[in-house]
Amino acid sequence: MPKLFGTFGVRGIANEDLTPQLAFKLGVSLATYLGNRGKVVVGYDNRTSSEMLENACISGLLSGGCKVVRVGMVPTPVLSFAVKHFDCDAGVIITASHNPPQWNGIKFWKEDGGSFPHTEELEIERIIEQEAWKLADWQRVGSTTRADAIGPYMDALLDRVTPLERELKVVVDCANATGSLVTPSLLRKLGCRILSLNCQIDGTFPGRMPEPTPENLQALSAAVKAHAADVGLAQDGDADRAVVVNERGEVLVGDRTFAIVASQYLKEKKSPRIVTTVATSRVMDDVAKRLGGTVVRTRVGEPEIVAEIRNRGGDLGGEENGGTIFPDWSLARDGIMTIVQFVSALSESGLSVTELNSTLPPYHQQKRKVRCPNELKQEVLSKLKERFAAYRINTIDGIRVDFEDGWLLLRPSGTEPIFRCFSEATDAQRAEELADWGMRELEDVLRELRR
Ligand code: MG
Repeated sequence: MPKLFGTFGVRGIANEDLTPQLAFKLGVSLATYLGNRGKVVVGYDNRTSSEMLENACISGLLSGGCKVVRVGMVPTPVLSFAVKHFDCDAGVIITASHNPPQWNGIKFWKEDGGSFPHTEELEIERIIEQEAWKLADWQRVGSTTRADAIGPYMDALLDRVTPLERELKVVVDCANATGSLVTPSLLRKLGCRILSLNCQIDGTFPGRMPEPTPENLQALSAAVKAHAADVGLAQDGDADRAVVVNERGEVLVGDRTFAIVASQYLKEKKSPRIVTTVATSRVMDDVAKRLGGTVVRTRVGEPEIVAEIRNRGGDLGGEENGGTIFPDWSLARDGIMTIVQFVSALSESGLSVTELNSTLPPYHQQKRKVRCPNELKQEVLSKLKERFAAYRINTIDGIRVDFEDGWLLLRPSGTEPIFRCFSEATDAQRAEELADWGMRELEDVLRELRR
């Protein structure tokens, strides 16, 4: 059997890889894993196949003896919130996040509202592989209740923030996806003037593809300029990530958004502990310094950040792709909270997005890659370690070399046959030099190994 769980639960093309039969098996296997009892909250995104998969997965959970709370169509952060709000033993979200419309996915959540660690996903995979699931006897088959999770989520979030003092004109682009159900009305309640773009629910994603890349956000950039808005805000297909467009229509890189949100969210926190990955900008160290806190760097990926926070604590987690975790709010990435924090920071500052961004030190980045077969990755890595032995290196994930004025990261991709080369420096030319050097070393090693 091919591996079911990837970096974000099970993903596949609906009715081809991800069938109702598989959704049923995942449901009954989760029920078995929970000891054939307990309460599970289930939600889904607005893809055309989501309701079908939700019904199948719920059948599996019921046949395995679980009670099910159906919260219907919700963004992923709302589902994570609902796990704790309804005091559930686990949660399930049916979504393929940023993938194209023919895709779908199923992901499990723990009772603390964070995602299943990979070790526990493997346990579910084992139950499916060995067909070791257990059905409940007829008296113990589960039942469902329906509940609204969006209302309680919005109330709880609004309890934590103060309405904006300065009214902002905001263009919101939710990709015709589930963010549309929450983000525009929440921002309106906070005191924003909203212009909505792609905020009608449509599982064919007619406005744009759900991945919030600069290419997919061209209409948002144009709308921000045309309407002289203060800021543009975009979400991915399940609203666990957020991307910011400045008043000139330019997309901010995720590190900068994370840094601005961190400054806002942690401003009253004593010596905050920020958890991020080795691939994130040094601007996070600047932010931590200003706040009197520390930065802890993990391997790349949301599960790595969540594991670090679960094991050793943390006040904020985040990645350079625009996913931010607010641990005292939720252990899942929350793109809606990210937007709310960004807008609050912008309103309080009295500045434009460009000016707010320039209150933080500027950095230049280079992101490159080279093809590298999966079976060569470990060898490439050990050769690189020899080559960089004279430097101060960090080997948590790949090799990161830090200098006074910048850093270089050479890291094998976890999902594709490529080796990544990231660099950052205070000076654009230096960032390029570092990346050139990294690429040269990588290509040298690859040539050596192929000989
Ligand atoms: Mg997502």
